[in-house]
Amino acid sequence: MAENLPKKPIMRPGANNKSNTVRSILFTFILLCFGAFLIANMNYGDTKKDEVPISDVIQRANDPEGNIAKITVTGNSLDITLKGKDKPTEISRKDPSGTLYDQGLINYCDGLEGEELTGCQETYPVIEYKEDVDVWGIVLNIALTVLPIVALVFFFSWMMKQANAANNQSMSFGKSRARLYGPDKKKVTFKDVAGNESAKQDLTEIVDFLKNPKKYEKLGAKIPRGVLLAGDPGTGKTLMARAVAGEADVPFFSISGSEFAEMFVGVGASRVRDLFSKAKKNAPSIIFIDEIDAVAHKRDAKGGAGREDEQTLNQILVEMDGFDNDSGVIVMAATNRVDMLDKALLRPGRFDRHVNVTLPERKDRLEILKVHFKGKPVEEDVDLESLAKKTAGSSGADLANIANEAAIGAAREGHKAISNKDVVEAFERVAIGPARKSKVMNEKEKKITAYHEAGHAVVGHVLPDSDPVHKVTIIPRGNTGGVTWFLPPEDRSYKNIYELKDILARAMGGRMAEKLIFGKDAVTTGASSDLKNVAQLAKSMILEEGMGEGTRNLVFPSEATGYYTITTDKPYSEKTAELIDAEIKKLSDEAAKRAEEVLKANKAVLDKLAEELLQHETLEEAELEPILKSAKLPETAKLYK
Ligand code: ADP
Ligand code: MG
Ligand code: ZN
Repeated sequence: MAENLPKKPIMRPGANNKSNTVRSILFTFILLCFGAFLIANMNYGDTKKDEVPISDVIQRANDPEGNIAKITVTGNSLDITLKGKDKPTEISRKDPSGTLYDQGLINYCDGLEGEELTGCQETYPVIEYKEDVDVWGIVLNIALTVLPIVALVFFFSWMMKQANAANNQSMSFGKSRARLYGPDKKKVTFKDVAGNESAKQDLTEIVDFLKNPKKYEKLGAKIPRGVLLAGDPGTGKTLMARAVAGEADVPFFSISGSEFAEMFVGVGASRVRDLFSKAKKNAPSIIFIDEIDAVAHKRDAKGGAGREDEQTLNQILVEMDGFDNDSGVIVMAATNRVDMLDKALLRPGRFDRHVNVTLPERKDRLEILKVHFKGKPVEEDVDLESLAKKTAGSSGADLANIANEAAIGAAREGHKAISNKDVVEAFERVAIGPARKSKVMNEKEKKITAYHEAGHAVVGHVLPDSDPVHKVTIIPRGNTGGVTWFLPPEDRSYKNIYELKDILARAMGGRMAEKLIFGKDAVTTGASSDLKNVAQLAKSMILEEGMGEGTRNLVFPSEATGYYTITTDKPYSEKTAELIDAEIKKLSDEAAKRAEEVLKANKAVLDKLAEELLQHETLEEAELEPILKSAKLPETAKLYK
């Protein structure tokens, strides 16, 4: 669905000049080399010379009648000028192993002066020694001096090109980075977004701004600039932003905050600049910055924003402040963590419109499921209503995932259509992990698991403020040996302290049942995740909900609430810390005690349920009902309300 705009390189002024300098330096260097080469060849003489053997040269030189006037010795080579000529016409090479004297070339005129010298020179050749100028050596020398410089220049120009390429890439939406969902692409509309009616309503207004900007301008209304979509992961924020673009039928420029993190230093800000200028050119249009918290986290929060992020963030702010009222560009952003955002981003004129995207309620879940099962072949028995009921707390993405898993499961089993069994399996797979039918449990382990799960079920069933038991299974799934599902009759936003205490107790039910049946020393590792859950819930009840008996109505800034990061920063005294620990322990002890009391009082029911589980492995609500029916709540497990 993502379309890449054709890459259009944007040359920055100056970038061109730099590469010109490089080119001229290179050109000079090549010229120099060429010149040196020419000089070298000139030195060796440009007229054609006859190569003669050294023995012949020596013979003629020693002969008073010989025709050689002058021998110029340069290193190993001899240039021979004949009598009556003014330029060497012959060339010869000495044997490199010895001196010329050894080889028989004698300078007869050495040491003579005046007329004697002239007379000698008429008879014998003048022998001149020229310094051995190794032209190639000179060239090599030059090369060795110049090459590192050239290499450096090359390296810098290469670096520059890289940086420019990165800039151009970001500026031109190349390489599948920033995406444009053009008007001709498959459009997402509000119809594709199920539920979330209030968010859609808020956004309809934005769509109208984009469609009829004139209408608002005429009345002098300020068009909103920034719309922040806030909500849990997977609730459809990204989908919603795309739907706005689809509804308004305007170009949609999208980039994810996390993509900035991968960029070259300094690129984030220029990227933002170009994103905005592109959007302005294509106005009316939408800029969508997904996961904006990645660049716009509080500058003083945990870890702090890096300098790079800060520049990116500042650039976003600068661009938004620079908008004219009639620019026709609306900036949307999405985040899971509004609390983490830099406050500067939320000021008027920036992201001052907030649209909350919430986890779907039961009827919305049903709508979302319908959207995602649409177009898939389903059997008559598929019960989306009950799936919607079971999936409290699931996000739209979770539900889409279940629908997809159901289809995959059905295909794997070779079904022609998705059956309800596929749907239930998909739900449990998504919630806990795939069933591990192949995992072998020995009889003893199976029995322990059966009692453990039965313990959860009996305690949960008996306690008055616990949700009803929906299903119990001892088929291993994910990391668990078995699962007991509790199902709230309806969605609830709040839980009271009694409900929470019952949750703690039923979580303890597994371990307590093991202890009751197999003895206190027979405890297994099967309850570790239950105990972790108990510890976590108890802690948050004390620290965050103010539910401690000795600390009632007091909440304590904790790591979870983001007020402090290092334990030494605890903004309360050691004495209070001890009190908190004691409160947490009290809650978990009470839960264990209540679970134990319930199980002791209903041992017969516990045995029966464990037995049935060993036999059938999975029991549904209807099968559980007759077994659990006779269980009673003992006085000792009641809460003092
Ligand atoms: P977020 O951006 O909030 O994390 P997304 O928009 O990426 O969530 O949602 C992920 C997927 O979940 C979507 O592509 C869509 O398939 C599904 N989804 C989420 N919410 C809804 C919804 N309200 N209606 C239909 N599908 C949804
Ligand atoms: Mg998203
Ligand atoms: Zn358990």
